[in-house]
This record gives sequence, structure tokens and C-alpha cells, in this order.
Amino acid sequence: MVRSVRDLDIEGKKVFIRCDFNVPLDEFLNITDDRRIISAIPTIKYCLDNNCAVILASHLRRPGGVYNEKYSMKTVKKRLSRLLVPEIEMANDVVGPDAVEKAKNLKCGEVLLLENLRFDKGETKNDIVFAKKLANLADYYINDAFGVCHRAHASVEAITGFFDEEHSAAGFLLQKEIEFSRNLLKAPARPFVAVVGGSKVSGKLQALRNLLPRIDKLIIGGGMAFTFLKALDIDVGNSLLEEDLIPEAHHVLAEAKRLGVKLYLPVDVVAAQACSQESTLKFVTTQEIPPGWMGLDVGPATSRLFREALNDAQTILWNGPMGVFEIEKFSRGSVKMSHTIAEAHATTVIGGGDTADVVARAGDTDEMTFISTGGGASLELIEGKELPGVKPLYSKEIE
Ligand code: AMP
Repeated sequence: MVRSVRDLDIEGKKVFIRCDFNVPLDEFLNITDDRRIISAIPTIKYCLDNNCAVILASHLRRPGGVYNEKYSMKTVKKRLSRLLVPEIEMANDVVGPDAVEKAKNLKCGEVLLLENLRFDKGETKNDIVFAKKLANLADYYINDAFGVCHRAHASVEAITGFFDEEHSAAGFLLQKEIEFSRNLLKAPARPFVAVVGGSKVSGKLQALRNLLPRIDKLIIGGGMAFTFLKALDIDVGNSLLEEDLIPEAHHVLAEAKRLGVKLYLPVDVVAAQACSQESTLKFVTTQEIPPGWMGLDVGPATSRLFREALNDAQTILWNGPMGVFEIEKFSRGSVKMSHTIAEAHATTVIGGGDTADVVARAGDTDEMTFISTGGGASLELIEGKELPGVKPLYSKEIE
């Protein structure tokens, strides 16, 4: 069992909460989706109700270890201020003199937000010196940043070396994510169907390999489907393709066959010559994508096929959109998938920010059993992997 913030004696103490405030921003730096901020509130409120001085830290995007005004946590502070009662103090550095001074003077019931953790090169390098500086700011460490738990970063992994069992634990959000995935894996109701999409073939092939022995059916849509279609000698025109991963795709196809997992790929696509709302569309079968055209969404026949395949599912895991859902013209396949899953009489688990976004746009959020805040992290957890950020938070006696 992972240790919970409830198990800690934090009354009146200074706590460091690693949050995941890595929210999407538009070109004007407005937060377009604040679910991750909202999800962090229960743990923060619990600490405040226990009269703690609360230090919050998160990364925002990939500033690459240097200060970048665009990715300052000021944006997050504004939104957070509307959700929390105490005024939020903000440090203008991460572990520099301002953060140290403000953390030292922070009183019970007050909140301090540090600058973007990734303004320091030490964060993504899991640097022990940087982690120690972070740890020195507080008496207790709480990790509530599920979305980054699959990464061994300083504020997630190295920092745990500076807190013993009585001084470190998971926040409520992290706890919920872990417990849900564990229960899902213990004895999933069958048929268990995984629906995978999105563009990052490279990131998901490993997940596919690991998922295969656990599932009954695999549905592949989105940009990543084209690498599989190409592996089957289908000409995919200018569609998204990772040539170097074709051998991997062959391996997944062969493994699926060996394990008796039914594998479904798109049979038709919505094709265009450019990825834009102004493009002219063609609905074509995957075998007839014209040269110079690319598949940007699954077609209507595919949506029907996938719906058939999901018909008897008892457990559904969905990670990755079926097409370029950000552009309305190419969003129908993803929206239809959302509706199909929402209507299924199954335990339905949604992973990844993009997929959660599709579900929200489709108006299906309330219909899903569980929507995870982490994409990569949720996949890795469901694959049964040990996450570097979670491992140190397990109680010793139960391990
Ligand atoms: P990922 O981060 O790997 O889950 O990928 C999500 C992204 O995949 C979204 O931004 C989609 O626009 C993109 N995507 C989905 N289908 C396609 C496709 N057929 N061609 C290009 N990009 C796609």
C-alpha cells in the first residue's frame, strides 16, 4: 500500500507538495484546461485544514533548465488563487535566495508557490544536490503529481531520499490513481479491450507490447495506426509514419496473433492533403489513400467496426485520440469513439490529457468510470510497471 498523507503527523508543520500543474496554455498564455489544478486542491486543502505551511512546486512545459517568462508559474498562481482561500505567495526562483527566504518565513495556514521546477537543470537530471535544496525547504514531502511519477526527476524521485517513512507520502490524487489501476489489473472483467491512438508510436509501442498479455482485444487508431498498416504492406500516402518502427509493429502483430488477441486497425480514413480546417476531404478506404494525401481521422466504416469490436467489452482502456481531434473536421472519429465507450456497459478508463480533452468535448466526462490525469504514467501503471515516483512511497512492511 502506498502511504497516504493521512498517515502523517503534519499538524502545524511545513509541507512540500509536488503537484502537477503542467496545464495546457493557448498562444496568449491562458490556461485552456485547469483539471490538473483542480485535482490538486483536496490535498492542499487537507494540509491547510491541518494548519500546515504549504509549499507547492510543479513544472510547466519544457523550459530546458533556464528561466523563461512564458513558462512562469505566475499563470498557475492566478488560477490557483481563485480556488484557494489563503493568498498565495510566489517565489521568483526555485531554490534560490527568494524561495529559501520565503519558505523560511512561511507561517501555518499560508501557501507558497515556487517557480517552475524545470527552470533548474537539476530537475530532469534527478540531481541530488537540487533535490536536497528542495527538501530543505520543508519538514514533510507529499507527492501528488501523478502525471510525472513515471519520470525519475529530482522533485519526484531523488527528493524522497531526504524524507523517511514518517515524513513522506502520496497525496489524495496520486493515491486514487494508483489504487484504481491496481484494482483494474487485479481481475479485470473480460473481454478487456484496449483502444490506443494518438501520434506517439514510439512512446506507445512498448506499452502495447506489455498490454498484449493482459487484454483480449486491441484497437489501434490515430496516427500510430499507419505504421501498422504499412507493416501490412498498405500504402499510406503521406500519413504519419515511423518507418524505423515497422519491425516493432510486425512484432506486435505477431504477438497478438500468438496470444489470441484480436487486433483491429482502421479500414477507412478521412484524408486530406494538408492538416487544416480549410483542406478538402476525401473519405477513402485505407487501401486507397491517394499519393500525397494523408489520413487524419478514422472514417465512418472504421467507427462502426470499432463499435462492433467494443460491443461485448466489460473493461475498456482508452489512451490516445483517433484523429487530429483539435481540428473540427478531423474530430468525428474521436468523438464517436468517446460516445461508444461512454455508452458501453463496461468499466471505462481514460488515460492521457488529449483523450480526456476529447471526452470533455464530446460531453461524456460524467459517463466514464475513471479519467486519469496522467497519460504516460497511467499507461505504465496499467502495464504493471513500478513508477520511480511511487516506489519510495510504499510502506516497507507490506512490500
Ligand atoms: P499522443 O500525444 O501520442 O497521444 O498524440 C496525440 C496527438 O495525436 C493529437 O494531438 C492528435 O492531433 C494526433 N493525431 C491523432 N491522429 C493523427 C493522425 N492521423 N495524423 C496525425 N496526428 C494525429
